[in-house]
Amino acid sequence: MQVQIKQIGDPCLLEKSVPITESEFGSAELLQLIQNLRDTQKAAGGVGIAAPQIGVNKRVIVIEYYQHEIARYSDTGDCDFTVIINPELTIIGDEVSVFNEGCLSVRGFRGRVTRPKSIGYKYYDEFGVLQQGCDSGFFARVLQHEYDHLEGVLYPMRLSAGQTLEAVDAIS
Ligand code: ZN
Repeated sequence: MQVQIKQIGDPCLLEKSVPITESEFGSAELLQLIQNLRDTQKAAGGVGIAAPQIGVNKRVIVIEYYQHEIARYSDTGDCDFTVIINPELTIIGDEVSVFNEGCLSVRGFRGRVTRPKSIGYKYYDEFGVLQQGCDSGFFARVLQHEYDHLEGVLYPMRLSAGQTLEAVDAIS
């Protein structure tokens, strides 16, 4: 079910979200939350969304994108629908990258954000199965952006001094 996306200024976007507990994995409530995230993200044309963005302060993220559908970015590759629960990230090396990020909760703007280029990750899927890996491409960027949502951080809070948001016409 598609639901409304909370916009910057809403207090739930600044809250630290709580982990999914063992008894919640595989539950009807969790699967419904995931479906709502998927439907809402797809309707909005996003590449990822975190539960706080629909007003649920739980540590759940979904990511899905296909290069041919997102003209605004290049070299993303494809990411089949992925459910990410209770993620833990580790920074690999000290290389950083700069990317002009947008956010479904910061409509109409983009901003250049510097983040670590390579990360290792561990998370659980919706049934509680541990997944792990590492990435230094677009997935690493999206995952770090979405992880920030679980910590109550929006990308404009990560702009360096002297950098500003830029207005864009298209949905970002
Ligand atoms: Zn976002």
